Amino acid sequence: MKKYAKLTMAMIISIVLFSSCAAIIKVDDKVQDNIKEIDETVEEAICENEVPENTKLDSSQAEKDNEAVEKQEKIEDKEIDLQKVKPNEAGQIMVVMYHGLGDTEKTYVRTRENFKEDLRLLYEKGYRPISLKDYINNEIDTEAGKTPVVFTFDDGNITDFNIIEEDGEKKIDPESAIGILEDFNKKHEDFNLEATFFLYGENPFRQKELIDYKLKYIIDKGMDIGNHTKGHENLRSLSAIDIQKTIAKNIDYIKGYLPKYDMNTLSLPYGARPKSEEKRKYLFKGSFDGTIYNNIGALAVGWKPEHSSIHKKFDYKYIHRVHGSSEKFGIRYWLEYFDNNPNKRYISDGDKDTVTVPENLKEVVDENKLGERVLRTYSIEEESE
Ligand SMILES: [Zn+2]
Repeated sequence: MKKYAKLTMAMIISIVLFSSCAAIIKVDDKVQDNIKEIDETVEEAICENEVPENTKLDSSQAEKDNEAVEKQEKIEDKEIDLQKVKPNEAGQIMVVMYHGLGDTEKTYVRTRENFKEDLRLLYEKGYRPISLKDYINNEIDTEAGKTPVVFTFDDGNITDFNIIEEDGEKKIDPESAIGILEDFNKKHEDFNLEATFFLYGENPFRQKELIDYKLKYIIDKGMDIGNHTKGHENLRSLSAIDIQKTIAKNIDYIKGYLPKYDMNTLSLPYGARPKSEEKRKYLFKGSFDGTIYNNIGALAVGWKPEHSSIHKKFDYKYIHRVHGSSEKFGIRYWLEYFDNNPNKRYISDGDKDTVTVPENLKEVVDENKLGERVLRTYSIEEESE
């Protein structure tokens, strides 16, 4: 009830103060937890590029005046939600690994039907895509009660991103991974268009004349490109210099198309990494021929969900992935696992400024990673039958 009262109030004030964006922003801010979507629509429609400088200042002063009241309201709202939402931001997250799509299911080929069914199941069960970078950096902004999931596609297969010609016009193949993801996102706006494509070599996505278009398209849509080395070498058998060379050369190649894009995640070809710590450090920091890199994470090939990045055991140097397959330890296996073990699953509290975990998981949170955020714990009340 409270939600609708606030919503109505916001809408009335929005209309009355049509020309004064400052007032609208103030109201928006006050009710942001409940009407985030309305906020954006109102701001976009009315305020875009039309806020005079002095009004902005008034607005921020007014916001400060109300800060204490708003904070109190927020806390009250959140505490009511805790037992219902049962957030667990120390829970596990699936980083799903796909390669190509096809008509027949193979170890590294997902049928289109199975891929679509993966998306449908994920959505229905409350999973919502986030970017790999946000996962590693622990900047998770998933809606309260939902579980983040990360999509990755290795090798730049044409079935991941294919352009076809229809009636003399070029268009994205609706049956390629990007086409399927975009279609699903159109039908379910809260299923964000987030995926990282790990590319190597000279012809990512295998349509040479369209490399430039495709790479820019991915970044323009807010998705990501990751490093899969230049030559898809087994990094276990390379020298320190050759490790740096293959990582840096791939960066040079992508920069040829996307000079400003920071490609800073690495998918280990074959999941292999050097044995010695001395060599492993070059997976993350190194340089070759003037190109310096800083990778924020390296991805393995298998076979299980990974810790939340706020968890003490989260290791950005070797992030496990779940196979996009129906085999054992594939995505379907783990979806069922989390259905049966909901307490293992990451559940968002919907607030970027807090990290919320059940009381018994307080100890696993790496407090060094909290930064400005507040760690909040709660005890789960037993539900009465
Ligand atoms: Zn590969």
